[in-house]
Amino acid sequence: MTKIGLEIHCQLTNLESKLFCSCKANYREFEINENICPICMGLPGTLPRLNQEAVKKATTIAMALNCSTPEKIAFFRKNYFYPDLPKNFQITQLNIYGDTSIGGTGSILVGDKKIRIRRIQLEEDPGRLIYEGSSSKNQITLVDYNRAGTPLVEIVTEPDFENPKEVRDFLKILSDLIENLGVADPTLEGAMRADANVSIEGGTKVEIKNIGSFHDLEKAVHFEITRQESLNSRDIEIAQETRHWDDRRKITVSARSKEEDLDYRYFLEGDIPWVKIGIDTRNELQSKMPESISSKKERYISEFKIPSQVAEVLSSDKFYSDLFDKSFTQENAKEVANIITTDLMGLVDTREKREKSKLTPEHLKNLANSIISGKIARNSAKNALHEIVKTGNELDAVIKELDLGNVTDQLKLQEIISQVINEEPQAVEQAKSNPQTINYLVGKVMQKTKGKADPSLTLELLKKNII
Ligand SMILES: [Zn+2]
Repeated sequence: MTKIGLEIHCQLTNLESKLFCSCKANYREFEINENICPICMGLPGTLPRLNQEAVKKATTIAMALNCSTPEKIAFFRKNYFYPDLPKNFQITQLNIYGDTSIGGTGSILVGDKKIRIRRIQLEEDPGRLIYEGSSSKNQITLVDYNRAGTPLVEIVTEPDFENPKEVRDFLKILSDLIENLGVADPTLEGAMRADANVSIEGGTKVEIKNIGSFHDLEKAVHFEITRQESLNSRDIEIAQETRHWDDRRKITVSARSKEEDLDYRYFLEGDIPWVKIGIDTRNELQSKMPESISSKKERYISEFKIPSQVAEVLSSDKFYSDLFDKSFTQENAKEVANIITTDLMGLVDTREKREKSKLTPEHLKNLANSIISGKIARNSAKNALHEIVKTGNELDAVIKELDLGNVTDQLKLQEIISQVINEEPQAVEQAKSNPQTINYLVGKVMQKTKGKADPSLTLELLKKNII
């Protein structure tokens, strides 16, 4: 049986500052090496100061993944020399004096399968290496320390995955969960990274490092299983090694032999005392946890009779579920859900588009109510939504400007219906003998009014005219 285990690194991107200093956690908006200070540069004489908010946010993640949370946490130095790590050690966590990392064992359901979590730890992100130059001869390596010290949560799973699809499903659930908790934006470049270990039936464990996105993680796992199976079929032994994911060529390549924990010479970080997270604090964090995705889904189904699939799409994305929760009334909930899942999702499908969108919950509420009251047809509502997202104008103004209002004037509609009856004598005869075919004529009226005729009024008038 193939066994896959994951180590997910998730930056707490929604925090104000880094893990041990007051530099910004959001390093992405800075020029290279601008978001740094003596602490995150590891200069002699500086002392780390633990970001309490990071401890709380990381604990919340642990709770959401049903992990045990310890009474006291401790930090350790992981010693290694690498240019992206100016201190020559990383401050991280390790469970050698009992469970002292931010989260202990836990689990999460992926479909019907339980994926076990081994532990969750809080640590600092290193800096970033940038390679420049076209060939290996003139290649230079630059270091950007803006990222050094960014709060990072590492989630380690047991090797419970059996194929790349299970990995993909888990990642989707995990990134939705992280987003729903409001602790990070998983769509930011580099915010979620991963290492994986893969072993096929009877084989040895191979670790894949450096996978920069969830999209590539599935590919890397798939590649590694195929590579190991190919070696196996040719009776070549699979070496126990660390491989790097080459995201340009989309393959794994052999890297240095893996360091053992002993090589890192872990020892307690003496500059940070053990931190007590008392039961009161943990209870408070638990009570402040946002509603979970699954409970949102249940609520949408049971309270508003929203179809299960629509409820699933709506609840799993924080952006859409927040919008829904601020826009619905008991009367328009189904229509609001409909607009979001059928029209809006296509209009704001990227982070940039969401940020630019001028749509407010008030707009959405108005639009849904106007569809229900027959002021605007569903077809036209889509055009109106497009305009509102772009301009932020009020619905009434948009309807007027784009001439999107329904034709509800009976006289005007009768005029159009008479025209259609004249033009379609055959269809009219057919409708007389087989009333169901009247829909064809409704369609013709819609065509003439560019979808703006009130559908129920049209049907009523057509019936009066023909039958
Ligand atoms: Zn700093």
